[in-house]
Amino acid sequence: MSDWSRATGARLIGDRAPGELAAPRETITGNRGLQIEENLIFEQGSLGRCGIDLADPPLFRARLGGLERQGPIGLPGLSEPQVVRHFTRLSQKNYAIDSGLYPLGSCTMKHNPRLNEKLARLPGFADIHPLQPVSTVPGALVLIDTLAHWLKTLTGMPAIALSPGAGAHGELCGIMSIRAALEARGERRRSRVLVPESAHGTNPATAAACGYNVDSVSGNLQGRVDIEALRAKLDTDVAALMLTNPNTCGLFENEILEIAAAVHAAGAFFYCDGANFNAIVGRVRPADLGIDCMHLNLHKTFSTPHGGGGPGSGPVALAASLAPYAPLPWLVHGAHGLELVEHKKGKTQQAIGRLKGFHGQMGMFVRALAYMMSHGADGLRQVAEDAVLNANYLRVRLKSDLSLSFPGPCMHEVLFDDCFLRETGITTLDFAKALIDEGYHPMTMYFPLVVHGALLIEPTETESKASLDHFADVLKALASKARLGDTARFHAAPRWTPRRRLDETAAARKPVLRWHPEPIEQQAEQ
Ligand SMILES: *Cc1c(COP(=O)(O)O)cnc(C)c1O
Repeated sequence: MSDWSRATGARLIGDRAPGELAAPRETITGNRGLQIEENLIFEQGSLGRCGIDLADPPLFRARLGGLERQGPIGLPGLSEPQVVRHFTRLSQKNYAIDSGLYPLGSCTMKHNPRLNEKLARLPGFADIHPLQPVSTVPGALVLIDTLAHWLKTLTGMPAIALSPGAGAHGELCGIMSIRAALEARGERRRSRVLVPESAHGTNPATAAACGYNVDSVSGNLQGRVDIEALRAKLDTDVAALMLTNPNTCGLFENEILEIAAAVHAAGAFFYCDGANFNAIVGRVRPADLGIDCMHLNLHKTFSTPHGGGGPGSGPVALAASLAPYAPLPWLVHGAHGLELVEHKKGKTQQAIGRLKGFHGQMGMFVRALAYMMSHGADGLRQVAEDAVLNANYLRVRLKSDLSLSFPGPCMHEVLFDDCFLRETGITTLDFAKALIDEGYHPMTMYFPLVVHGALLIEPTETESKASLDHFADVLKALASKARLGDTARFHAAPRWTPRRRLDETAAARKPVLRWHPEPIEQQAEQ
């Protein structure tokens, strides 16, 4: 076992002598061209080496009452170039939207315009501190209020809670608001939340975290909610329906008005998971669909970086019936201009409290507003139209090579299943791994759960026709190789990545997240 594998608990294909670097032996160094093999930063470091001159600390008197650390903490000692090279090399092993098409369904991995970044770095936004007196940051309040205004305009909803830090956090905010509204109506007995079986896992998780029983609603053959199955479950003990629209099969729930009416007739609330807002932004106002509450993912629809690239932001649009329960802080138009209300008093008496320290992800607010303002109303509408057009272009180009799960046009993402791989001995996972060898980040796999071996492709509006054509050609060629029985290629994939195939179950169940100098037997790489 090499130092590398000892340190990470991972093992590579092929035999290696002790101490040998963890790479195939075709080159002297183990490097493959510009792909450099190297040991962990802890293994490279040596005690006592340092990148900077640190003066000895002045004499001090310990005030920790004997709780001081007794030994060294084992940080690696490294020079500055060692650190820079190490992290630059790591960054080059990464895949990002800045390096290529990223068709990860449901995640809306669109290009993040650099204009957003430029504005977020303006010192007036970047250098303010959340604990600064509010009177010193009126511009930040105006920005937050302007963002809220446009989000309210786009959703048609009267209130927006900006503090949630991601989509799932927004769901928590929404369901907590619904629970507070029900309690205020004296309806604590409502104990069920209905969730379609195609839902993102965060929906049932949120409902359960808020103390509700999750009741799954089946879908129909068109990939949408079965409205009769829904009606049969609607009762006086239902608190809410959590529906995603467009749904996770990439389809618009075209009976949504009937669904909303049925939910309201049962006295329940209608929560919409708005993660897929990119397909309808500027085209559909959620309030017109009868939605009471919906989270938006600024890091999806409004192009703020995500997927290892930065914090998310999950504002929640609220109908008038839920607005009084919105979490603190509230930004209100008072007698002296904009005021930040941070405590329960007067109008905010029924607020569910605070969901997050400070006021939300300010950097994401700046980026999202920059995105909206640079696109304008017509530009945002075109975002939705082009996202849907691109997904349908791929749908039509691929429908005879891969197997479409549901008939008819899709919204901003297209869902295939593994029927086209039947009898080939190749799984969705193998197919996705082979796509990595071709230089693409795979599509979302095995989600949604309603079809077998799902492949969910979301190209987003920021891919050109040439880029889509290249991607489609690669998928077609891979599908043809699968049909012709080139199984070995798929089972061996990925072959050209810095690390080969991992035992993902072991990696998830027994993650080795800390460097450990001792040999570790849990091994993730096969
Ligand atoms: C991304 C997503 C979420 C969760 O959003 P996060 O920001 O990742 O917490 C919820 N539902 C759907 C359909 C999503 O695509």
